[in-house]
Amino acid sequence: MELGLKQEDTIVAISTPLGRAGIGIVRMSGRDALSIADKMFVSKNKQRPSQFKSFSVHYGDVVRLQEGSDNNTIISVDKDNACYEVIDEALLTVMRAPKSYTREDVVEISSHGGIACLKAILSLAVKLGARLAESGEFTKRAFLNGRIDLAQAEAVMDIINSKTEAFLRISTSQLKGDLSTELERIRRLLMDVFVKIEAVINFPEDDICEEVDKSVDVKRCRRHSTFLEEISSAIERIESLLKTAEQGRIMREGINIVFCGRPNVGKSSLLNALLRTPRAIVSDIPGTTRDTIEESAQIKGVPVRLVDTAGILEPRDLIEEEAVKRSRDSIKAADIILFIVDANSIFTDEDKRLFEQIKERNVIVVVNKCDLQQRLDESEIMALCPNKSLVKVSAVKRMGLEVLETAIFESVWSTDMDSQEGIILTNLRHVEALERCRGCLFEAVSLLRDASPVEIVSEQIRQAVGFLDKITGRNIDADLLNAIFSRFCIGK
Ligand code: GDP
Repeated sequence: MELGLKQEDTIVAISTPLGRAGIGIVRMSGRDALSIADKMFVSKNKQRPSQFKSFSVHYGDVVRLQEGSDNNTIISVDKDNACYEVIDEALLTVMRAPKSYTREDVVEISSHGGIACLKAILSLAVKLGARLAESGEFTKRAFLNGRIDLAQAEAVMDIINSKTEAFLRISTSQLKGDLSTELERIRRLLMDVFVKIEAVINFPEDDICEEVDKSVDVKRCRRHSTFLEEISSAIERIESLLKTAEQGRIMREGINIVFCGRPNVGKSSLLNALLRTPRAIVSDIPGTTRDTIEESAQIKGVPVRLVDTAGILEPRDLIEEEAVKRSRDSIKAADIILFIVDANSIFTDEDKRLFEQIKERNVIVVVNKCDLQQRLDESEIMALCPNKSLVKVSAVKRMGLEVLETAIFESVWSTDMDSQEGIILTNLRHVEALERCRGCLFEAVSLLRDASPVEIVSEQIRQAVGFLDKITGRNIDADLLNAIFSRFCIGK
């Protein structure tokens, strides 16, 4: 694939974060990686890196040769006559092409993790002929050299960015190729139909002569229905993937949970309880929370954003007016609203008015302070919102929190969103391409139903395959590719 990348360069980067650390890694990839390593590494057994076996690790020193010395002197002199300066002691790993991350010769130097040390090793490699790697360039090479496809390359970045174990699991499955295998299966189905249709276009006589006793119309009809069946089975597979896009969005963006309820019902206490750490100020003075408070957490491996609102209905000053506006904005953006009421109090008019504002949304009624005597008439709430789930908790005594977490999880994560293959689409680019692919196939189906000429059906299928190929990178332009990899970190 020619996408304007100078692959003959040997690239180098610091692959670990810069800061104070026990170990840091400088990674080099390309055809000169080993010869450059020969000029900067003295192993304890005086072997050169270019003589090391693939996947072997060697202990030694990273050294800077004195002016005028060549790399033969590195191994020929004894330590007292050393014509080099030691930068740091290190372990050097060699991974030879094609069995390496990039399918090129790769050298990794694990030294101490200080900034000065890593930068000195990096500059030395550059001085000896390597070029600084661009963002994601190692992974881009793995893609361009055919080791992984684009969806797998994107999974690498998702793994690095994973904040939850669940997201990590999805990304790892994508890197293993589960999504790519399914896309390949769909592609094969479509290519099959495409080839058959092309055969009909190119050799119409063969088709007609196949069954002499049948009329042309009957045969055309039969042929169309076979095509329809095959395209429909591809659509089914695509829809099963697209069904997971909402789960993917949740994994990517998290669930937006907004706490709503009149002052003093225990919103801040519940937020702290779910966070398992005190964040919001808890006080029995009503109206303590005058601004919205946002915190991130995880519920059953899914990232959540918890937003505590002021719960004010009638603002008394400008600050409260702003608080009301912010609460309203948060409610608008919520995936779930926790409507919190106080078990120890009757259901007030204020509760009712607040509920009126949110009743059309995805609401879970949370009856808090269940450790206290119950004065609340639950049937009154249930009459108001018969189809909402109700969970009883005590934020202070940490009772009912698991049940609440399950209710939150289940209200956005229905099991029929799960795909059979365990694949979840987390990448918006993949979702858009699959939607466009499905659009072309819908068009193909309707053309076949209208008994339109097969030439235009074939064109729709060709386009559908093109959209699949955009996901795996089989068909992608250099600009888009560069845009994708520019989001990667340096050194990966
Ligand atoms: P907010 O105004 O809705 O955010 O309410 P806070 O979280 O500030 O709580 C108001 C008062 O109710 C505080 O004194 C809390 O200690 C108390 N509180 C909150 N949750 C519970 C609970 O589950 N049980 C009991 N007994 N008191 C609670």
